[in-house]
Amino acid sequence: MTFSLDNIVAWAKRRWFAYPGSDIYGWLANARDLWPYGVEVKKNIENNRWKFFVQKRNDIIWLDSQILMNPKVREASGHVWWFSDPLIDCKKCKSRLRADQLIEEYIEKNNLNLEQINERIKVDNIAVWARSFEQQTEFINQFKIKCPKCWSFDWTEPKQFNLMFKTEQGTIEWQGTDIYLRPETAQGIFVNFKNILDTTRSRIPFGIAQIWKAFRNEITPGNFMFRVREFYQMEIEYFVENDEKIWLECFEEWKKQSKERWINEIWIKEQKLRFRDHDKDELSFYSKWTCDVEYKFPRGRWELQGIAYRTDYDLNQHIKFSWKDLQYSDPQSGKRYVPHCIEPSRGLTRAILTAMIDAYDEEKYSDANWNEQTRVVARFNKNIAPIKFAVIPLVKKDEEQVNMAKEIFDKLSQDYMCEFDDSGNIWKCYRRQDEIWTPYCITIDNQSIQDGTVTIRDRDSMKQWRIKADEIRF
Ligand code: ATP
Repeated sequence: MTFSLDNIVAWAKRRWFAYPGSDIYGWLANARDLWPYGVEVKKNIENNRWKFFVQKRNDIIWLDSQILMNPKVREASGHVWWFSDPLIDCKKCKSRLRADQLIEEYIEKNNLNLEQINERIKVDNIAVWARSFEQQTEFINQFKIKCPKCWSFDWTEPKQFNLMFKTEQGTIEWQGTDIYLRPETAQGIFVNFKNILDTTRSRIPFGIAQIWKAFRNEITPGNFMFRVREFYQMEIEYFVENDEKIWLECFEEWKKQSKERWINEIWIKEQKLRFRDHDKDELSFYSKWTCDVEYKFPRGRWELQGIAYRTDYDLNQHIKFSWKDLQYSDPQSGKRYVPHCIEPSRGLTRAILTAMIDAYDEEKYSDANWNEQTRVVARFNKNIAPIKFAVIPLVKKDEEQVNMAKEIFDKLSQDYMCEFDDSGNIWKCYRRQDEIWTPYCITIDNQSIQDGTVTIRDRDSMKQWRIKADEIRF
């Protein structure tokens, strides 16, 4: 069953995953603060990724580079010139939209195929053709696409809008230097490449990874945490030799790896994932091959991750702009070259959202009196569930039960995120824990005081069994 995004937004707020940012001032549009369970999910995804790619491998190192960088970095990477989206305004209601998205959504909503489009305008490929302002204007005019907010047909011409947030560095207002909040984390890796080569024992092929914030002044943010202006990215730049066989193999390996991680780490349902290679004309100018990992969200199929073969574009640009030698010397062959790189770039904020959407379920069951009930249950990978154990004394006024529950909580919380729940109503406790993904509830009752056993309840099956308190393991 598919649940609407509104369902997920309400659940996230009700159950402490994400809350509207600056709420007491009436919210800053599309900003979301992560709340305790959201923070835990984020931390768990990050830690699992770190363990998988850094702790268990020898060829990837970890970095935490600065958000604010020398403005020349953004000139070298080209973000100052090309990192923009086509913007269009409705003259009537003043709505500001992305022209390419307006067209894409129109095609999807009306289920238009190439043949139908070709009846009005000559197009070779739906996915890529509406790139230039002329093409976008022609499409909007030919199909008389109306403003989705006020239904009028009165557009400005499309124009380019740079998505980088600009600020000033310096102590004197208006006299500082223009500087950008980074729109992606990758350049922090490229500018550290030389120092890493000089100071670590990294040898090609090797990768540099980082997870941190990026900022984009999106024209049409929305869909909860899908498109926001401040978000987390998890990027890896994997450097290889310039050899077609090598980079092709490496690219395929990252595709395989990515699929495996989405399914086994985040527990995304395989049938909702799609790996879509870009057509030649759709590729960014710096990429020779890109594959988008897409997910079937309640409102459409959208990107979760991009895997791009970026060639040696970025390092070459930094060579040009910094005048530094960023070549690699192969210690065995003595060959010197500028390495090429494969970039698997995944949004962490989107991963949290996708995990939530994929896990959310509403299920009917019979209670102890055979009455039909509905429970919200999030079937989520236990490794990223925010709380691993809820410890519940059955009778909150029973001092012995409460003390034993506290002892178990103190012990388990050394290693796991646990919750102590002494609100007294066991069924309500179970419901609450099901909703926040807690895999196991531990209940302490009268028998626990007699023989030291406790009841364990499994979230998914709702089955219960007794074990010795000191045998509890995750
Ligand atoms: P989109 O086509 O959705 O705008 P993109 O192709 O611009 O994404 P990339 O530049 O490849 O995205 O960034 C890598 C990843 O960062 C994306 O796959 C996505 O998961 C995440 N990401 C990008 N922009 C945003 C955003 N505004 N909000 C949340 N996550 C984002």
